[in-house]
Amino acid sequence: MQVIAHISILQVFCFKGKSPIFTNNTYFMKKLFLISSSRYQGGEFWAHCVDALGKFLEPAHGRRNKVLFIPYANADGDYTGYTQKVSWTFNEFGYELVGIQTYQHPTVEYPPRGCFEDESICAVCVGGGNTWILNYALQNLNIVKAIKDKVENGEWKYIGASAGTVSACPSILTTNDMAPVLPKSSNGFEIIPFQINPHFVPGSLVDKHMGETREERIRQVIKINPDWQVVGLPEGCWIEKTNEDYILSGIGQAIVFRKNENISIWLPGEPFSEIGML
Ligand code: ASP
Repeated sequence: MQVIAHISILQVFCFKGKSPIFTNNTYFMKKLFLISSSRYQGGEFWAHCVDALGKFLEPAHGRRNKVLFIPYANADGDYTGYTQKVSWTFNEFGYELVGIQTYQHPTVEYPPRGCFEDESICAVCVGGGNTWILNYALQNLNIVKAIKDKVENGEWKYIGASAGTVSACPSILTTNDMAPVLPKSSNGFEIIPFQINPHFVPGSLVDKHMGETREERIRQVIKINPDWQVVGLPEGCWIEKTNEDYILSGIGQAIVFRKNENISIWLPGEPFSEIGML
């Protein structure tokens, strides 16, 4: 099994017998927790997935006990309030949630400073809201690559909710949001190989409503981007990656849309590799 996906060139390691002991900067494979919606059926923020999130995070130990929160999807701009609202979820498991706004903002230089140098951070959580506003901010601050690198090398786990989940995709074009602003690029973090449409609902939401259904909108996207697989992820569901595969969890089932009406049902507990084209 490929456990160590990447090892920093600065890593110091020594050998005891045949097994290497990594003494610092030991990075493991990327780990992702991608929630369709922050709330489910009127419940509290994150309540429907909090137990699974605790298992995913594992109990905090040592100095790596901070989760970096990215609240920029909040269209009202109340980053402090949003961070406080989500905090309890992480406090439950011994983690402190720190908003990225509390660090001196990184500059357009690369590599950025501030939170990217804080070794007590072990995960990044990208909150929901408006996907376009979120990505506009991420791109203007020039922090997309720095976050992606931390996640890809396993130094930071990635937790996304809704807009934060869409942003993990190759593109943000499968969001449901209107675009109040246009980021320079529609690329997401590109840390997963398929697209997600969060808050997915099949069929018409309202009787005699004449607008496109969600399936029709997804088909339009695939017509123009025929190589995309789009996962319609209903509220109450999330996707986890803690080893090589992507596993669906939660309540309900997801639908994977592809070109030529090639559709699969994705059931909780199933690895994506069994129903997708990875
Ligand atoms: N607006 C959603 C959110 O809660 C994202 C979406 O529906 O695409 O973040």
